[in-house]
Amino acid sequence: MDLQYKDIHYTLIRSSRKTACIQINQEGQVLLRVPQRTGLKQIEGFIEAKKQWILRHLENWREQYVEKKERRFLNGEPFPYLGRSYRLKIVKNQSAPLLLKAGTFCLRSDHRAIPNASDAFKSFYRERGLIHIGERVAHFQAIMSVKAGRIRMVETKTRWASCSSEGNLNFHWKCLMLPGRVLDYIVVHELAHILQMNHSKKFWREVEKIISDYKERREWLRLNGTEMEL
Ligand SMILES: [Zn+2]
Repeated sequence: MDLQYKDIHYTLIRSSRKTACIQINQEGQVLLRVPQRTGLKQIEGFIEAKKQWILRHLENWREQYVEKKERRFLNGEPFPYLGRSYRLKIVKNQSAPLLLKAGTFCLRSDHRAIPNASDAFKSFYRERGLIHIGERVAHFQAIMSVKAGRIRMVETKTRWASCSSEGNLNFHWKCLMLPGRVLDYIVVHELAHILQMNHSKKFWREVEKIISDYKERREWLRLNGTEMEL
């Protein structure tokens, strides 16, 4: 029986068990198992007592199953590129596995399955990344009077970008999914590391000189960055 108590939807299951228990299944349903003759008042009292636990576990479930849901490489699915969203179209014949043509991501049908489809996107982001980030680095290093080493597109677990002690820059291909202004913040952040190899006040002052609203862009990245997945 599906019921609701305050903002918690739950499924009540009466069973031969002696005590009540709450469970959250893979579909994110709250299952409440209670002994046969438990009254509604008792049930709601039990939910009230367990409310924090339920909300916390629902949040974990959302993070695990909803926010990180796998992408589907089907006609009409949206894919981000520099902060804009472009629909996917599966096509029969074209030179490269993936092309961005007239506002549409065209994926050749022999690459529609995973992992080929995600690899095609990664290659696309990497190739575009070298060009776009290369231009932004050139732009900002002139303003900041620094000289970056070589630029590489990489895939790491946790970082958007990094700067070596030689001034070589690594950028995750996911950076190309971000809005240009957020990516600009990442570029300036890494270039500022050529001046300051730390996150000291001095470092942030260098960033702020170039991007006065860097805190807002950094916050956007913190809140939305996890959605940039393939
Ligand atoms: Zn840093």
